[in-house]
Amino acid sequence: MTQTTTDRPPGAPGTDTSLAIEVRGLQVRYGGFTAVAGIDLDVRRGEVFALLGTNGAGKTTTLEVLEGFGTRTGGTVSVLGLDPATERSALQPRMGVQLQEGGFVDELTVLETLQLWQKLVERPDRPERLLERFELGGKRGTPVGKLSGGEKRRLDLAMAVWGSPELVVLDEPTTGLDPESRRRTWDAIRELQEAGRTVVLTTHYLEEAEALADRVAIMHAGRVAVRGTLSEIVAAQPSGFSATLPAGVADLPWLGGTVEREGDAVRVRTTDLQGDLTAFLGWAAARGVQLSDLRAAPASLADIYHAIRTEEQR
Ligand code: ATP
Repeated sequence: MTQTTTDRPPGAPGTDTSLAIEVRGLQVRYGGFTAVAGIDLDVRRGEVFALLGTNGAGKTTTLEVLEGFGTRTGGTVSVLGLDPATERSALQPRMGVQLQEGGFVDELTVLETLQLWQKLVERPDRPERLLERFELGGKRGTPVGKLSGGEKRRLDLAMAVWGSPELVVLDEPTTGLDPESRRRTWDAIRELQEAGRTVVLTTHYLEEAEALADRVAIMHAGRVAVRGTLSEIVAAQPSGFSATLPAGVADLPWLGGTVEREGDAVRVRTTDLQGDLTAFLGWAAARGVQLSDLRAAPASLADIYHAIRTEEQR
């Protein structure tokens, strides 16, 4: 793998060869609206990095800048040692991109689309390999315009991973896919990772980031609100447990966490899951209270977003 960094001064973005992507103070404004408000991102070579965040947080806008399709209004960006704004033609052969909306020619069949791709993309690969990999063999003669949403998504992914590029950027790769197609997409992403490729993806699914990503950044309103490994981020949030009480139980034990009660349903959010759950179960056992629907779980993505919004309002 070569680095095209010779024209950059030491310490400038793009000179750290352990990083596939280095973003400093990225800002994107659309007229008077700031979609990305000065973010920093480091993506290491060979890792899967997930961008999560609320709707409109700026994830797609950020990816578009990394891909060289979007225009930044501030900051510096290095992708594989290149500036995507000015060096896109050098970057393009080394990067595979899956957009949120694929741009297909509806009249071409699936096979013709891949054959056209074979002519356009410098990286060698075979349509048959990808038809099989993404279970599109049975659709090879179908015009792209007649594919289902999930099939189009798989074709788009096949084109992004064509020839196993150094860097693959995927915008919501599994949105709208059924569980089996999602699993196959995850397998394809893991395959890239095992081959030492770098993958950046956006997702709205915590379990997807959990299953795939080495590190994540969570965006909200144009900023990176939290970053790190997902287990660090989840561990920093209170966990929760919930149960339904039998009718007529009026009082509850004292617990360190926040207790919400709605009728007989009790939900507790706590930083001391073991302590509070032990106290709660001990209280139920001592009183002979029969609990139903007892569940304990770490923070969900909704909990994390709620915590980010609450922090923002302070
Ligand atoms: P989602 O999860 O909903 O896909 P996102 O995090 O990918 O959201 P973006 O698509 O990056 O969000 O959009 C960020 C903000 O910028 C949104 O408020 C969006 O409406 C706005 N935006 C995006 N593109 C444009 C544009 N071309 N002109 C004006 N505003 C835009």
